[in-house]
Amino acid sequence: MQKKLMVTNIQRMCFHDGPGIRTTVFAKGCSIHCPWCSNPENIGFQAETYEKDGVKGVYGKEYSPSELVHILLKDQDFWDGKGGVTFSGGEPLMQAEAVRETAIELKRHQVHTAVETALFVPTEKFKLALPYLDFFIADIKLLDGELCKTILGGDTQTYQENVKLLHHSGRLGQFRIPCCPEYTFTDENKERLREFLKEYPEIPVQVFSVHGLGKKKYETLNRPMWESKGVGQDALEVYCKELRQEGIRAEVIRI
Ligand code: SF4
Repeated sequence: MQKKLMVTNIQRMCFHDGPGIRTTVFAKGCSIHCPWCSNPENIGFQAETYEKDGVKGVYGKEYSPSELVHILLKDQDFWDGKGGVTFSGGEPLMQAEAVRETAIELKRHQVHTAVETALFVPTEKFKLALPYLDFFIADIKLLDGELCKTILGGDTQTYQENVKLLHHSGRLGQFRIPCCPEYTFTDENKERLREFLKEYPEIPVQVFSVHGLGKKKYETLNRPMWESKGVGQDALEVYCKELRQEGIRAEVIRI
């Protein structure tokens, strides 16, 4: 029997989730907990009901890989030859079996597959899906082991091991740094990121400020939202310039 994928949303016409125009599948459940997360409905692994202003809803619906592929293929005409399907989340690789089955079926239809991942997943799970995903967008957040454990609940050793494996596979397409002055955009972490990125000079790096766009979703879940001060465009540009001086292909994006 096919393993089902728990999904919160299928978003069409996405322009920042890999090459070309894409359809993005938001998988529910994450292995870490970033304070700045703007997708709180994607952190828990089970479906969650909510009621807000008299409107009832559910975050999360299970799809078998065949059901999902049937829905996704309806977008084929929009993918402009370069685009395809991106798995995002949450952490899609925590549902590696279902992502793998879905990607295998998409590949049968010659669909390009990508994934947005924080890479804090057991390496065995990661290896399961790796051969069927063409393009990886990998986050880099906190590289100090203790901070990463305390703030995100993530293990930097597993992260680093997964990055190395991914790079070796030739499927590492992009790094992404969510910047917030309170955690990831401190002088110390910026320095760690710079040293880390120097090992991967050919991989483009996108840098962006975290934002408070998840506010309404936090309200529906009745959860408090932590708000970052965010990082201004100028400071991001300066950092990218410094990275480029080290041979790192960094650019600022807005998402
Ligand atoms: S990895 Fe993404 S989905 Fe998971 S907690 Fe962090 S920001 Fe949210």
